[in-house]
Amino acid sequence: MSKLAELKKRLSTVWDLRSTSSLLSWDQQTYMPPQGSGPRAQQMATIDRLAHEILTADETARLLDEAATELNGAADDSDEACLIRVARRHYNRGANVPGSLVEEFSRTCSLAHENWVEAKRSSDFPLFAPHLEKIWELARQIAGARGYQEHPYDALLDEWEPGTTAAEVRAMFDEMRPRLVALVKRIRESGVNLDASALHQRFDLERQIAFAKFMAEEIGYDFNRGRQDISAHPFCTSFSAHDVRITVRYFERFLAPSLFGTLHEAGHALYEQGSPPQFNHTPLRGGASLGIHESQSRWWENLVGRSRPFWKRYFPKLAGFFPEQLHGYTVDQFYRAINRVEPSLIRVEADEVTYNLHIMIRFELELQIMEGKLAIKDVPDAWNDRYSEYLGVSVPNDGSGCLQDIHWAHGILGYFPTYSIGNVVASQLWERMLEDLPNVDELVENGQFKSVLGWLVEHVHSRAKKYLPKELVQKVTGEGIQCGPFLRYLETKFGELYALDR
Ligand code: ZN
Repeated sequence: MSKLAELKKRLSTVWDLRSTSSLLSWDQQTYMPPQGSGPRAQQMATIDRLAHEILTADETARLLDEAATELNGAADDSDEACLIRVARRHYNRGANVPGSLVEEFSRTCSLAHENWVEAKRSSDFPLFAPHLEKIWELARQIAGARGYQEHPYDALLDEWEPGTTAAEVRAMFDEMRPRLVALVKRIRESGVNLDASALHQRFDLERQIAFAKFMAEEIGYDFNRGRQDISAHPFCTSFSAHDVRITVRYFERFLAPSLFGTLHEAGHALYEQGSPPQFNHTPLRGGASLGIHESQSRWWENLVGRSRPFWKRYFPKLAGFFPEQLHGYTVDQFYRAINRVEPSLIRVEADEVTYNLHIMIRFELELQIMEGKLAIKDVPDAWNDRYSEYLGVSVPNDGSGCLQDIHWAHGILGYFPTYSIGNVVASQLWERMLEDLPNVDELVENGQFKSVLGWLVEHVHSRAKKYLPKELVQKVTGEGIQCGPFLRYLETKFGELYALDR
């Protein structure tokens, strides 16, 4: 057997174990009975440990070196060369962090999670603070063990957005911040108030589910290789390109989460279903990074799903599902309802314009904590000050302030920038697609998504995880990641909706 074949065999064991762990996690979040959580946590920990041990063993390092020698001379972008590069990144990230530190981090986060739930419920930040302190202290140690070139934050960010640095994110936000803050201000002062009441009525849940599945199928989600279930927090997960699942959350008195949650998660799922089958069981399967993944979900949720052409076609169909509720509303009223801008406290409910301001605040605080410039006890004040400065809202309590998201309690640090990178990259890709499909509005209005999806498959999905996110964007658009297209998109769309040029 060649060394490359031996390496592939070894890696397939690691990635099969990881997929199995993901399947257990999917089950936990959908159908597992409540009392199953204790034993399930142990089962998943066992599988994760086995995968980690095989990945970080000396044998893996030896095979990586030998296979690289064997491949000497292969093109840089060949599947084999990319496989070795990606596998080496995974190996390095895991092998340099002592197992005892990984275990302590995981234990600390479990405990923190319980306390966060209670702290959030009772808006009691001091209850959570000691746990958060410990999490950041361990994260600093992990960053040190992994190594970094410029900033310790880079070592955390690299896990989600390989090859991207805090300095690059900071530069992106520095460009975005003044234009977004100005746009929010102009919208607030426009005197225009978009009426969203169409979305706030009683909508039968079974019908919502049926419409959500219909929409997902329309844009190209293949239910022979997927399924749609319900969970408290919507997500997409996959175990191969042949089994990609999404979950959605439904509210009886608010229609938007099921519509846009479905398009969002189906966007993630299309990316996974577009991953070439030969990459199953390897580290090349799936998406380039969380940011690129988010570019795909936001593409379908916002660029397609919150557009006028989309609802010209689908509003009459939606009204067929809900004739009583939507009788009397026009497409245009509906389009305005789903695009209402309102600075708010909660990131997950934010509109397209204010969304990235939430991310910026989180990123700025994370950087300051990492640098030791912000003490954990001062996080609520720093949080509230920025919400008032960037969004013009005052935070009534920490439950709807700095305790709102689960990420910190799970030890997921350096993650938030990927949401903004996704928004930015989606618009860059869209501008590039317009060169090939200038009639995209017409295609969307006629429900002809094959060519739109086909474009994404050709330029993004088929490349799976072969390239770093910035390499991928460079290959597709000829440029690095930049926010110009995204800002232009927002200013044009919301300039029209809020009559800002009058
Ligand atoms: Zn997403």
